[in-house]
Amino acid sequence: LFVNIKDVKNLHFSNCEGCTESCCSAPKVSLAPLILDDFEEVYKNFAIQFGYINHELKALFVINSGEGSCKYLEDNKCSIYDSRPPTCKMFPISPFYEEFYINTSCQAVNVHNGEWLCSEGEFSDSFFHKRVENFVEKLDNTKDFLFSIEDDLIPSIEVKGIQLYNYSGTIKNSYIDMHKSSILHLEGDL
Ligand code: SF4
Ligand code: SF4
Repeated sequence: LFVNIKDVKNLHFSNCEGCTESCCSAPKVSLAPLILDDFEEVYKNFAIQFGYINHELKALFVINSGEGSCKYLEDNKCSIYDSRPPTCKMFPISPFYEEFYINTSCQAVNVHNGEWLCSEGEFSDSFFHKRVENFVEKLDNTKDFLFSIEDDLIPSIEVKGIQLYNYSGTIKNSYIDMHKSSILHLEGDL
């Protein structure tokens, strides 16, 4: 359940001890959306793919194959903690255009215990990531990029019924390079 940060008075984040619904595992999550600015922090560890969510082309990174957990989850801990993707760093906060939402299905989110998460529309610096600065502009840049590649996509794998694609056209830029290098993460265990 997502609630707008403006609609909550005060929330804290305790810890993940005993959580049986890891946010790093299917069926909870298998794909997560990216903006172009995220590519740099993601491509060395995950496959960057393209796919349609609600009929809209998105850049996505593949967390797992639709079963099991992220390959970096070891003993219920993230083994790449400092270089985990921006969306992992901000969880349970997600930006949506100019608004921020809290995923209250995370058991660590609560009213009294743990570090301060958010209060009256503001969230704690510990959950801040530079990706959210000028977020609407970054979303627009990402959309323009996706529009430019849409005609040259070829099918790769399917995750939870969502067909994913690789780029096969002739555009050359750093985002395409990062996408292409990241494809190796589709080989072997995801
Ligand atoms: S962040 Fe929340 S959902 Fe994810 S493992 Fe921790 S308690 Fe569970
Ligand atoms: S990178 Fe770490 S925090 Fe992100 S999904 Fe994988 S194990 Fe979880």
